[in-house]
Amino acid sequence: MNLAVVLVSPKTPGNVGAAARAMLNMGASDLRIVAPRCDYLDSQALAMAVHAGDLLRSARVFPTLREALGDRDLSVGTSARLRADLPAPRHPALIRPMVRQAAAPALVFGPEETGLINSDLEQCQVTVRIPTGNYASLNLSQAVLLVCYEFLQGQDEPIPVTRKTATREEMEAMYSHLHETMQLIGYTDAVRARHTLRLWRAMLDRGLLSSAESRLFRGFLRQVRWKVEDAAARGTTSARTGAAELEPTQEE
Ligand code: SAH
Repeated sequence: MNLAVVLVSPKTPGNVGAAARAMLNMGASDLRIVAPRCDYLDSQALAMAVHAGDLLRSARVFPTLREALGDRDLSVGTSARLRADLPAPRHPALIRPMVRQAAAPALVFGPEETGLINSDLEQCQVTVRIPTGNYASLNLSQAVLLVCYEFLQGQDEPIPVTRKTATREEMEAMYSHLHETMQLIGYTDAVRARHTLRLWRAMLDRGLLSSAESRLFRGFLRQVRWKVEDAAARGTTSARTGAAELEPTQEE
């Protein structure tokens, strides 16, 4: 991934060296430094970089953040704090798809003492915050490590290959069946059906049912119908008739 790491005005050479090492560990190589306040190639920096000395030496320096981000199509700010006047930061894993789809993303990290200022964060489309305990302010290079990890090495939950996810057709057939059953047992009526079904659809769709699971669910619904009709035939209860002929509810 063509991912750039931008350090805004770092003060401690060791932090820049350690950030370079973290990038090499996670598979990033484009280091950009905005207005450094230290000699980021001094002996302390190179010692902390260990095998990332070449990466550190190839870092590019920019006078402003705006110039450092000039060729980037997605800029992700990082912040330890919530800022009242800016959109709330997101968990890095939640925006992983956005970063992976970008052609030229950048991750922007702030100075050690103050973090990024609002005018820096305003140049970023999105801000992330690494969840922590009460003490939220991570060391700069550790923040680089964790955020790069999320985007470059973090795994999305794999969908088991042996499992056949139900098609939309199967799911819609299941929802029609559910709708009929709801009417049959008086769980909903024509007025409330659309809303009720929307809630059930949201819940069941979230489960990404397999084909077999959708059949399992429909087997249960068939049994409900059989039981209601059987009870009605015996005269122990009365089934609501006509519900089965209702049209399936369409989503808006
Ligand atoms: N005192 C500053 C923190 C500076 S730490 C503040 O409160 O904002 C230096 C940089 O490390 C931050 O600008 C940010 O880029 C990164 N960082 C530190 N902790 C972080 C966290 N919990 N989540 C995301 N980035 C963090």
